[in-house]
Amino acid sequence: MIRQCKNCGRIFSINISKKRLARGWGAFCSKVCVRQWKDNQIPDMNDDLAYMIGVILGDGYTINKRYPYLNVYRIGLTTKDKEFALAFKTAQQNLGLKSRLNQLKNGRNKQLYVVDANNRGLTKWICNLDECKIENLMVEKALAVAFIKGFYDSEGDFARLRLQIRISNTNLSKLKLVNKLLERFLNIKGHVILQKPSKMHYGKKDVYRLGIYKQADTLKFLQTVGSNIPRKTIPNIDQICL
Ligand SMILES: [Zn+2]
Repeated sequence: MIRQCKNCGRIFSINISKKRLARGWGAFCSKVCVRQWKDNQIPDMNDDLAYMIGVILGDGYTINKRYPYLNVYRIGLTTKDKEFALAFKTAQQNLGLKSRLNQLKNGRNKQLYVVDANNRGLTKWICNLDECKIENLMVEKALAVAFIKGFYDSEGDFARLRLQIRISNTNLSKLKLVNKLLERFLNIKGHVILQKPSKMHYGKKDVYRLGIYKQADTLKFLQTVGSNIPRKTIPNIDQICL
């Protein structure tokens, strides 16, 4: 049977049963082409991918390492919040990744959750993203909201008494990006400042903070963006009429 390779377009001949053909076998001319094609398959931009990018910009991580006998391409998150771990796992699964959730005991019996999935193509793609590319990916409100939610789940903090949202990070340009998207899609005005260096931070990197101080903006943020982590939002916030 003569076929055309799905990856390189080369015409090749192959002996294959109809049954296997129906299952999608025999689409590639070589193992190299199978791998190349898989690597280039980036899922279409959707809410789950936007959320994952937001988390990776925050507490999440990517491992892109080549060892002599093994290459590791991994997208993961370590957190103490179970709800956060489950949300990240769901996003990974929705993207077709084989996501694993493990529990770790940390020193003083603190429970940690580790979620990760191996994927070469997606890991490489995410490693190449910068703030500018991410901004260009956020073409609609739903994507921007999912992205900001991922970042807020990671780095955010809800000051319940003052009704303020605070998102802290050492990377100023990440916060500026989130602030820009908040203003563009949600019309929320945030302020980015350098946090007052405390004694605890002495000798460490500067920490910047994106704050949402107007109560109306905070409530709008919690209603439209919200969080997967209960302590970072108000229960049943979507049922409250503003
Ligand atoms: Zn090929």
